[in-house]
Amino acid sequence: MKKYLPKDIFTEFLQCRNRGEELTLKIANAMASAMKNWALSLGVTHFTHWFQPMTGITAEKRESFLYPDGKGGAIMEFSGKELIKGESDASAFPSGGLRATFEARGYTAWIPTSNAFIKDKVLCIPTAFCSYNGEALDKKTPLLRSCEAINKECLKFLSLLGDKRNMVKVSIGAEQEYFLLDKKLCDKRKDLLYLNRTVFGAPPPKGQQVGEHYFGPLNQRVLDFAQEVEKSLWELGILSKINHNEVAPSQHELAPYFSDADIALDNNQITMEIMKKVANSQGLCCIFEEKPFAYVNGSGKHVNWSLRTDKGENLLECGNTPKENTRFLLTITAVISAVHKHQDLLRLSVCGWGNDKRLGSHEAPTSVISVYLGEELTGILDAIAEGREESKRAGCKIQLGVKGLPPLPVDSSDRNRTSPFAFTGNKFEFRMPGSASSIAGPILILNAIIAEEFRLLAIELEEKGKDTQSIKEIIARRVREHRAIIFNGNNYADEWNTEAKKRGLLFLESSTQCIPYYSSDKNVKLFERHGVLSKKEIIARQEILEEQYFTSLKTEGAVMLEIVKRDILPAVEGYLSLLFSNLKQSQKANAKSEIYLGKIEEIEKLYQKISSLSKSLGQLLEKQQKREEVKEVIDLMKNLRLSCDKLEEIMPRKLWPFPTYGDLLF
Ligand code: ADP
Ligand code: MG
Repeated sequence: MKKYLPKDIFTEFLQCRNRGEELTLKIANAMASAMKNWALSLGVTHFTHWFQPMTGITAEKRESFLYPDGKGGAIMEFSGKELIKGESDASAFPSGGLRATFEARGYTAWIPTSNAFIKDKVLCIPTAFCSYNGEALDKKTPLLRSCEAINKECLKFLSLLGDKRNMVKVSIGAEQEYFLLDKKLCDKRKDLLYLNRTVFGAPPPKGQQVGEHYFGPLNQRVLDFAQEVEKSLWELGILSKINHNEVAPSQHELAPYFSDADIALDNNQITMEIMKKVANSQGLCCIFEEKPFAYVNGSGKHVNWSLRTDKGENLLECGNTPKENTRFLLTITAVISAVHKHQDLLRLSVCGWGNDKRLGSHEAPTSVISVYLGEELTGILDAIAEGREESKRAGCKIQLGVKGLPPLPVDSSDRNRTSPFAFTGNKFEFRMPGSASSIAGPILILNAIIAEEFRLLAIELEEKGKDTQSIKEIIARRVREHRAIIFNGNNYADEWNTEAKKRGLLFLESSTQCIPYYSSDKNVKLFERHGVLSKKEIIARQEILEEQYFTSLKTEGAVMLEIVKRDILPAVEGYLSLLFSNLKQSQKANAKSEIYLGKIEEIEKLYQKISSLSKSLGQLLEKQQKREEVKEVIDLMKNLRLSCDKLEEIMPRKLWPFPTYGDLLF
């Protein structure tokens, strides 16, 4: 910007941006022209308003800078107006009823705080996407609003503690898990082709039990992939930092260096797109689906969350001074209270057909929300709550406002990895989000519910006083009230379920159970109060979630039926005819025929079961699904799958119509 903009415009632009003021047309025109010149200097002739509709992926429409010059030739133009606002016929994007098809226009509005970038020789301008009436139709707008909300409420909270700050920003580091498979093999599986997930597949003879893959050396193909992805990301200014093997065979993780929430969101979307592209070009297939394989770990997208002030402080760092300690403990109690009060919203923020399959199975957090704080911090909070002066667990005296607390360990080696929401020394790691989904939802929910707690804390501080004793009481009451959400044990153990029920925590196992919570009175009030979503927008989003869920269910059912009818059953028929002819020959030769008879009987039984299950599934899918019937469909799918997987285990390898888990994963 500095290089391409006149000096005064550059300064003015930064001022406007930092203060969140509207840009003048003069600045917009200059910005547009600078962007165009930058793009042209790199051989780029097109631009697009890049946005993030409710589909969860990104959208763009290429447009060239080209205009007729009136003399039979052409010139390259890009005006401030074109930069600021775009209009698109967007009737095909999900709107949840916010936009009738006859009012199909959607608008894209430039977000000056997001970085423009060049991708595939197109200048991409990050924009918000909204309806004619200004309702958000995208994932990013409410995220930006939630960042504003937490900024506002947190600043007020800080100022009450005597910390005058100008800005609080949300830092996000999203760890992206994925599977990397051979493309030629994937192309032979219709489920991977259509759903990016397998719907059949017997467990391979060797699983992930030995854990030999985790953090193991990358093989050459993966290394080549990782290097190429890194290069492309770095070129775009995305600081991809960590790449390692995950627990399951062929599963990996990529993590960038953390950044502001809105930038992290953009970057994660671009990263996924680039990973797919690079994989494709190297004969690989990059899978982001949450649960591509049964019996094998699923993939998540751990969202690391913290708050940073304009003074560079991380509010989730314990700090060295008594004053910093107090601020830290208040912030922690705000988070705990928020999570305890809004388990419904957090669960909702990670809902979806794919993630439902992942949560609670094979090394993934269960669908019950709890917070891990670690022994030391829990010890300190418990001591305060119980009015004790000493914490054995933290090994320290708690003299808030007088003496400093010991530093908390920021250690990744022995920390709890089973918790859905874990404090990891200077940030919270939300481990429930699914690997394929946009991180916008989880972040905006976290921001909104924690903004609300800062608001309530500010009121309490104003009412009860800001002296050490009052603050201690505020912390103590909150810890006592929300102690039930803190759990430092093993969330994967069966005992946790019993314990969680005893504690009265919320059990929302499937998306269909949690989606209706979106528009509860409590939640509408919360979102409206902080200007994150209006009631109309909430209802629309709820509708979209529901629709997406049922579409996924129907599509998966259809793919299953297609594979059963056109691949699996014909393969079985082929095998049966082979067995019959073998039987005939053996009978002719007066040889023993029991082996064939036994096999034929076993296979015929499965064949019949599969035929009848798929018939029932087909009939159910033809109907409009109701929420109550979902379980029935899911059970049918499960049974159908089990029978097919059993068949796979007894059919000869070369007669099975598509690559097996063993082929794909090892
Ligand atoms: P893990 O050990 O959980 O796999 P990684 O090191 O792979 O952790 O990833 C941690 C992620 O958290 C990275 O994206 C990192 O940049 C991010 N992170 C680190 N500090 C912060 C912070 N203060 N706020 C938000 N994210 C952070
Ligand atoms: Mg990691």
